[in-house]
Amino acid sequence: MASQPSIQNIYCIGRNYRLHALELGNEVPESPMVFTKPTHAVTPMNGGTIAIPGDAGEVHFELEIVLRVGDGYKVGMPVDAIFDAMTLGLDLTLRDVQSKLKAKGHPWLAAKGFKHSAPIGEWIPFVGEEALAAGEFKLLRSGEVAQIGYPKDMLFGVTELVQHIEASYGLGPGDLIFTGTPAGVAALRDGDVLESFWGSQRLGHCTISMK
Ligand code: ZN
Repeated sequence: MASQPSIQNIYCIGRNYRLHALELGNEVPESPMVFTKPTHAVTPMNGGTIAIPGDAGEVHFELEIVLRVGDGYKVGMPVDAIFDAMTLGLDLTLRDVQSKLKAKGHPWLAAKGFKHSAPIGEWIPFVGEEALAAGEFKLLRSGEVAQIGYPKDMLFGVTELVQHIEASYGLGPGDLIFTGTPAGVAALRDGDVLESFWGSQRLGHCTISMK
């Protein structure tokens, strides 16, 4: 792999899997729902402990495929050339805080952008859109399957996401796209051991501390 670009913008896609939208009582969107996280949200999911707020209500895990835009990015490139790497990440969410923000019509930043709200696993080369769609990813919590996702179930696929983000906000080297979470999100507990898998390959693991 070529030199790794430093992380720039972090785009996240909300409600990109039908069953996840429905499990939270949300409508399925008609165009990609995009929000961002600060780069300070990123933390490695490489075996250590990740500290998250223990006093702000439920903190949900959302396992997502994360794509990284490579150094050679140019507008109009084929998707398979845009991304130099992929991994699995967690879009950690203060769900109770988010519910209050939504009710007030306020932005989601406090619920989605807190420090350590974006743990990411080890980068592997991007497998390409076709192989991605044929793949499977999952999250184990203390050894038990918590989420299984099939990228083919994304409401907006990788090409559509790229086109939408490029046209609306711009895309450049080092940008990350969190592509949305499948069903099965739930509240974390202090001491949870999380492991993320792309197929049979473990890309990340960590222990959650909520003290
Ligand atoms: Zn998410």
